[in-house]
Amino acid sequence: MVLLAAVSPASAFPSGLPAKAPPIPFPNPWAAFQNLSGCHKGEEREGMAKLKAYLSRFGYLPPPPSSSPFSDAFDEALESAIATYQRHFGLNATGELDPATVSQMMAPRCGVADVINGTSTMTAAGQHGRHLYTYFPGGPMWPPSRRDLTYALADTAETSIPRATLSGIFARAFARWAAATNLRFTEAASGADADITIGFHAGAHGDGEPFDGPLGTLAHAFSPTDGRFHLDAAEAWVADGDVSSSSSPVAVDLESVAVHEIGHLLGLGHSSVPDAIMYPTIRTGTKKVELASDDVEGIQSLYGSNPDFKGVTPPTTPSTSSREMDGGAAALSRRPMSGVVAGTVVAVGLLRLVL
Ligand SMILES: [Zn+2]
Ligand SMILES: [Zn+2]
Repeated sequence: MVLLAAVSPASAFPSGLPAKAPPIPFPNPWAAFQNLSGCHKGEEREGMAKLKAYLSRFGYLPPPPSSSPFSDAFDEALESAIATYQRHFGLNATGELDPATVSQMMAPRCGVADVINGTSTMTAAGQHGRHLYTYFPGGPMWPPSRRDLTYALADTAETSIPRATLSGIFARAFARWAAATNLRFTEAASGADADITIGFHAGAHGDGEPFDGPLGTLAHAFSPTDGRFHLDAAEAWVADGDVSSSSSPVAVDLESVAVHEIGHLLGLGHSSVPDAIMYPTIRTGTKKVELASDDVEGIQSLYGSNPDFKGVTPPTTPSTSSREMDGGAAALSRRPMSGVVAGTVVAVGLLRLVL
């Protein structure tokens, strides 16, 4: 925090800069993927190895053998991995890095993989007449004897969001899933007594899934009955108020991400339905907390339905197609930081650059 305070936005934008100074690099760990747009099989482009690492991280490519790290060559395995990714996100499955695919890959997302142990957990989008919700491999769930679950705000030292605000947000997020099922959730005073532990963490935090600063991966949670739920402390979380009116281009709605991660804690994997809570990406400045019918069917298939459940509220906003999401991500990446970003977010971005 001392370093944060020392790096003020003023020192980063000295007076006398030419009016058309190049924009500060957008603090997106995946921004360099833009340079790969248009690439296809047979080409070699600097930075392709990083894209392979991204696809490997989310399960689309096996990890490289320790003897030979990923190369920058666009080979057949990469083409196939990209085509699978495109099918999951409702994009044209060309196997090429077209702009829509690159934009989707740069969108902030959940850290949980889409393909686990080589088995796709996501069903290709656009297959009408069948559900698209998924489970983790083996279908782990909380056993029938465990319908009253407790959760605790176990690690909050890394966030400045007041504890009472956090309590309200997570209570509302858990209530979304309780409304559709016979599960009940209660906040416990400490992690030692709780089935589910919630924590904010920065960078590496001991589970082999380091966080990456603003955007990139936002949070991750473990399948039942592990109960660990981690959020990236470096995100510009919006905990109070309307995320869509935030002045920060990197603002992410905390409650929306909480509802998604709770789905994982209960046993759901990612869905290809763009409106579903369990879709892997979320746009900045967007609130998405209502379970879609795909989420409801998924969770009720595991835990049964709540007789008092009133059904799914129809979305109040137009359905979010992946194309709209691409447009959002592309517009986001073009927005320069200077002039529009809240001071705290600038400081976080600079901290990353300095380090
Ligand atoms: Zn997820
Ligand atoms: Zn973690």
